[in-house]
Amino acid sequence: MLHERLSSVYDNVLRRNPGEIEFHQAVREVLESIGPVLGKDPEYAEHKIIERICEPERQIIFRVPWEDDQGEVHINRGFRVEFNSALGPYKGGLRFHPSVYLGIVKFLGFEQIFKNGLTGLPIGGGKGGSDFDPKGRSDREIMRFCQSFMTELYRHLGEYTDVPAGDIGVGGREIGYLFGQYKRITNRYESGVITGKGLTYGGAQVRTEATGYGCAFFVEEMLKARGTSFDGRRVVVSGAGNVAIYSIEKVQQLGGIVVACSDSSGYVVDEKGIDLDLLKQIKGVERRRLSAYAERRGTDATFVAGRSVWEVPCEVAMPSATENEITGKDAEAMVRGGCMAVGEGANMPTTPEGIRVFQEAGVSFGPGKAANAGGVATSALEMQQNASRDRWTFEFSERKLQEIMKDIHRRCLQTADEYGMPGDYVAGANIDGFKRVADAMLAMGLI
Ligand code: GLU
Repeated sequence: MLHERLSSVYDNVLRRNPGEIEFHQAVREVLESIGPVLGKDPEYAEHKIIERICEPERQIIFRVPWEDDQGEVHINRGFRVEFNSALGPYKGGLRFHPSVYLGIVKFLGFEQIFKNGLTGLPIGGGKGGSDFDPKGRSDREIMRFCQSFMTELYRHLGEYTDVPAGDIGVGGREIGYLFGQYKRITNRYESGVITGKGLTYGGAQVRTEATGYGCAFFVEEMLKARGTSFDGRRVVVSGAGNVAIYSIEKVQQLGGIVVACSDSSGYVVDEKGIDLDLLKQIKGVERRRLSAYAERRGTDATFVAGRSVWEVPCEVAMPSATENEITGKDAEAMVRGGCMAVGEGANMPTTPEGIRVFQEAGVSFGPGKAANAGGVATSALEMQQNASRDRWTFEFSERKLQEIMKDIHRRCLQTADEYGMPGDYVAGANIDGFKRVADAMLAMGLI
């Protein structure tokens, strides 16, 4: 239920952003959490902080023309939503996927404000991307697209202004092409203008692994809070991209058994535990479908085409594919199957009904804002190293990441307790993230 004042804020968001359903969903989830904050601190309402936070500071939409290998011209749409810079330069990834439109970029940018606030690091919130579909495109086509995209975007970026990174469809290869074009246009070796860079040119150790590792660390803390651990637990991770792969890696190191993962074609069940080297080879190197994993793995693994991986029973779930992949029905089946903890590696992978089912069943539910914040937190560490022209070791960086995830977990629980909602990580994350941003905005006057 929405607090009366928040309900009129929400109605306004619906009216002013028609059709942007993912953005509406992300806003509603935050508004549902912050009612108690308004009761405790009327200053936020008086200064219309919530209304201001729901309106991006700047939204950029641009044309991205490029030529494929056959010489045919294509036109895509590029986006960058610079949502909030109260805590630092706009920070957030770029997503290249055919589903991208303004509503997706705004939902992701909105989430990013609170997630970044929650890390405790000096980064604002933003997000961008394009409806470009990288699937099946050659390396040269990807490069030409990235160069054209950056030819427009560069004028809006800067290490003190706006610092993109990757997201779905944007990994190390794309970041390299984007950074190369930025450097060429501006004639500046401005390392801190983009994160997720390769280790040969200013990238940070552990950035590649950070979202997945961080999510596993967060879930480990949730399990500890329940008096248990990953040891011997049956885990399902959806997706087979960067977040999923490194979640699987860390879960395995922490003693969990990952029995299934998925991609857009279906899922694979491997009761002995996913063979991570094989998965990395099939998805990361060969860029093939998951059925190839099952074929090469032999009788141990089964590929199930076109179905949801959430029908596979598990004790711990780490949705790491995309938004709204766990419905209320999925969640009910998962609870029946013995699921006790969910850590969202993706952004908003659980529908509002799904969250309700988990919370009512007493499942520890770690929302993406908290559970997957390790990625952007390590981006902030990359910025820190770039600014001081320093390089940290893998071990040092991983320790930092783990400390940050522990701290986020502790603050979620503490804040939820403080506002009378013990164990509610959604409320804890939303309230803590909100207060950090809101307090900075209050201090800066009417901005
Ligand atoms: N796209 C990632 C996220 O959802 C990382 C953003 C970044 O590193 O800036 O948080």
